[in-house]
Amino acid sequence: MYATSFRPSRESCRPIRVSFEFFPPKTPEMETTLWSSIERLAPLSPSFVSVTYGAGGSTRERTHNTVSRLVRETDLKPAAHLTCVAATKGEVDEVVRAYHEAGVRHIVALRGDPADGVGTAYAAHPGGYERSCDLVAGIKRIGDFEVSVSAYPERHPEAGSLDQDLDALKAKVDCGADRAITQFFFDNDLFFRYLDRVQARGIDIPIIPGILPVQNFKQAANFARRTGASVPDWLAARFEGLDDDVATRKLVAAAVAAEQVLDLVDRGVTDFHFYTMNRADLVYAICHLLGLRAAPAAAEKAAA
Ligand code: FAD
Repeated sequence: MYATSFRPSRESCRPIRVSFEFFPPKTPEMETTLWSSIERLAPLSPSFVSVTYGAGGSTRERTHNTVSRLVRETDLKPAAHLTCVAATKGEVDEVVRAYHEAGVRHIVALRGDPADGVGTAYAAHPGGYERSCDLVAGIKRIGDFEVSVSAYPERHPEAGSLDQDLDALKAKVDCGADRAITQFFFDNDLFFRYLDRVQARGIDIPIIPGILPVQNFKQAANFARRTGASVPDWLAARFEGLDDDVATRKLVAAAVAAEQVLDLVDRGVTDFHFYTMNRADLVYAICHLLGLRAAPAAAEKAAA
């Protein structure tokens, strides 16, 4: 059975669960934007909120600070992203222990991109965790963490084939991964074909679709090129000519994302992970369409 649960139609009453991904802010302005987005999205009671780890461990402190503040100041369950790049096992383990001490119990464990940039050959740090599955096992040894990992419906650019990619996912599951979150995709059929392959490979953890609401088409297309995600022609056509028209772009973005998630709901998906890009509006609107409403206590607090 797919662990991502299925339901027959939009009218069915199985609950929808969402999680939100943020990145750690670089500047005081970005910090303000992030926290106002978190405040706006928190009343929707996400299952968890995750905070990314910059390439090469470049945001180590900032990720930790953001995650710790989430623990201290909110009721949200934070998940800290962590990679194997540019650090020894001892250094990575130290970060994991610091999270445990701070009260964090969920880590998104990744290999990370090559230290010399996407497209260059990956070389594990001498004395570091070699592969993401080793990191998963290391985290599980340290404490009672829930561990999420990545999954690639269109395969990771470094994988020789989708089968090789599924072998990597299976290795992570065998090392204790509890759930996988997918790279974003725009063609839902790709996702369902991938789930069939996952199931055939005997992988039974939840596979949560990662949804990227397209706030900026050019940026999303660039991002997709680097990550191996395909951008359908129809999507490019929808944003054509809107580079300088922010208002229309926002409406189109909402319509495109709504179409994607509501189709996934109709086809039985109940869990969604949103790449928020630290912006709340579009994600809030999509969650509203999914039937999510602010929790009463949070709504009262907001109105007070
Ligand atoms: P894995 O799942 O371990 O491997 C992916 C594929 O690459 C597998 O097919 C595997 O066989 C193949 N592969 C792995 N190593 C090699 C090798 N040496 N030679 C050939 N093939 C190899 N990056 C960040 O820096 N910070 C983040 O916070 C972050 N968050 C992410 C969250 C999600 C949900 C996703 C989907 C990705 C995220 N990434 C993040 C990107 C990720 O780090 C990169 O895609 C990275 O290149 C692979 O890491 P992984 O753990 O996904 O790889």
